[in-house]
Amino acid sequence: MSTKTSIEWTEQTWNPTVGCSKVSDGCANCYAEVMARRLKAMRVRGYENGFHLTLLPRRLDEPIRRKQPTIYFVNSMSDVFHERIPDRYILDILAVIRQSPQHTFQILTKRAERMAEFFQGQSPPHNAWLGVTVENRTQGLPRLEYLRRISSCVRFVSVEPLLEDLGVVNLTGIHWVIVGGESGPKARPMKREWILNIKSQCDAQKIAFFFKQWGCWGADGRKRAKKLNGRLLDGRTWDSVPLQAMCFDALTQKGLMA
Ligand code: SF4
Repeated sequence: MSTKTSIEWTEQTWNPTVGCSKVSDGCANCYAEVMARRLKAMRVRGYENGFHLTLLPRRLDEPIRRKQPTIYFVNSMSDVFHERIPDRYILDILAVIRQSPQHTFQILTKRAERMAEFFQGQSPPHNAWLGVTVENRTQGLPRLEYLRRISSCVRFVSVEPLLEDLGVVNLTGIHWVIVGGESGPKARPMKREWILNIKSQCDAQKIAFFFKQWGCWGADGRKRAKKLNGRLLDGRTWDSVPLQAMCFDALTQKGLMA
């Protein structure tokens, strides 16, 4: 089932698998886990196994059937490069992406090593943006090195939940950075200066910067409902997307630009 989503940086979600397992600190309060358990309790089709990794091949052709150009977040309820998803099934997902040139597909993973191995010696589809999550220095930042090895039209980083100051980040080859704080009852705080540190590095290197949300901890350091904290940073929204980078790289790969 592909569905409209309230996630600010995409349009629809497409989940040809659901379920996952935790790999790093960013997973501690996983939204997908909470949702999967809830949907199982509501007996929603596809969630019979709750958060246990489940392939849903009947959902594979959904984007092909949709004609209206759409930005899809692939596997918002799972991770495309989870160790229990066979290579064959990932190839099926990529085949659908190739057969749907009217759409753009955003693939975000915490399993950056497997993603880099998977694409060794081959390029992802032109309409796939590949990204990694970076929630902290020790577990998150090394994923950037794996991402850089892939010749993707757009390489992006989701810094959510931002759990600490990331210091100086090597953003070479990165086209888009999304930053967000955590939500939910156990949300961990995010400080304004941590966000500004990343934003200033993006600005200096002309990398598109998107501020998604404060989450449950506001700019004033107080905890409250996520909606009340909103998504303004220093009085405005920051919604840049990497269109220029995408066009440049796509044209370059087609041999239309030097
Ligand atoms: S990788 Fe993503 S979906 Fe999987 S457990 Fe971690 S936060 Fe949840």
